[in-house]
Amino acid sequence: MKNIRHIFFDLDNTLWDHRKNAYLTLKEIYRRENIQKIYRIPFEEFHKEYFTINENLWAQIRDGKITKEYLRKHRFYDSFMFFGVDDEALGLRFEHNFLDEILSYNELVPGAFEILEYLSEKDYKLHILSNGFHEVTYKKAELSGIKNYFQTITSADEINVRKPQPEIFRYALGKAQAQRDSSVMIGDDWIADVRGAKSFGMAQQVFFDVFNDEFSGDGIISIRKLDELRNYY
Ligand SMILES: [Mg+2]
Repeated sequence: MKNIRHIFFDLDNTLWDHRKNAYLTLKEIYRRENIQKIYRIPFEEFHKEYFTINENLWAQIRDGKITKEYLRKHRFYDSFMFFGVDDEALGLRFEHNFLDEILSYNELVPGAFEILEYLSEKDYKLHILSNGFHEVTYKKAELSGIKNYFQTITSADEINVRKPQPEIFRYALGKAQAQRDSSVMIGDDWIADVRGAKSFGMAQQVFFDVFNDEFSGDGIISIRKLDELRNYY
C-alpha cells in the first residue's frame, strides 16, 4: 500500500446526499406551488424528468460547455417544458427557492459520519474538493455537521476551474499542502473525480460506484458503500 496521508472527498452524492436532499426539497416546493393540481403532472414523473435534465446539465458544466448561470436558468424551465408548461417565471421561482431551501435538508450518504470518524482517528488528513457552487459547499459541510473533520474545503468556483481539469487538483492540493504521491481522491463521478485525479497524478483514485456503472481502469479502486474504504485505509 502506498503511503497515503491526504484523502480528498467529493461532496455531492459522495458524502452529502444531494439526490435525497434535492428530492425532499423539490417535493415541498411542488406541493406549495400546487403543481399537481394546476398542471396535472404527478410529482414522481416531474422529478424523474428533472433528475435526468439536471444530471445532463451538470455534465455539460463539467465539460465546460455551459455556465452555471445557464444551468440555473434552464434546469426547471426545461423540466416543465418537457410536460408542455412554458413558464420562465415559474422555472426561476423553483430555482431560487430550491437553492434557498435545500440547505435545510442535510441527509448524508449512509456511513458518511462513521467513515470520516474512522479515517480521522487513523490520522489521515481529510479534505473536500467539490465542483458545486462556492456559496453552498461550505454551508453543506457545516449544516450537515461534518465540517470539523476537514482540514480544507475547496470549491471549484474559487478559481472557476472544475474537476477533471488538472488546475483544480493542483489548487486543492496546494491549499492542503499535500503531495500527489501521498493523496487519494474519492468520488462518484467517473470523469470528474476518478479520471481527473488519475491524469493529474494523484497516487490513488477511488470510484464510489453508486449506480453499478462498473467502469474500471488501471489500479482504480471501486466501492459500492463508503464502509468499504476500511479495506483500503
Ligand atoms: Mg459528486
